[in-house]
Amino acid sequence: MAERKIIKIDEDKCNGCGLCIPNCPEGALQIIDGKVRLVSDLYCDGLGACLGHCPEGAIMIEEREAQIYDERKVMNNIVKQGRNVIKAHLKHLKTHKQAAYLKEAIAYLKEKGLEIPLYNIT
Ligand code: SF4
Repeated sequence: MAERKIIKIDEDKCNGCGLCIPNCPEGALQIIDGKVRLVSDLYCDGLGACLGHCPEGAIMIEEREAQIYDERKVMNNIVKQGRNVIKAHLKHLKTHKQAAYLKEAIAYLKEKGLEIPLYNIT
């Protein structure tokens, strides 16, 4: 556990539309009982890729004690979703200058013998 940035969902504002979900390739969000939920602290990098996609303004960033983000667990989720999601995730890490996570993600793909998509090219 560590004090860090992580998303916070305002359940009163969330209408369960699901628009934020595709914007979290890390797989941290799911609709459960009509509201979006953070399924695990481990999957949220706290960079806020989902924030601007909520028409209700229900997602914010807060600082709290949370489990540390786990790039390998995230990659386990991501590779199941296919090449475009892998590419979006690598690009997201690159855009946010997360060099250590990017290195870990690429090492994971190499270990599994998976293609590394050209995430520098739009
Ligand atoms: S986009 Fe906003 S309102 Fe829609 S499910 Fe996500 S948090 Fe809820």
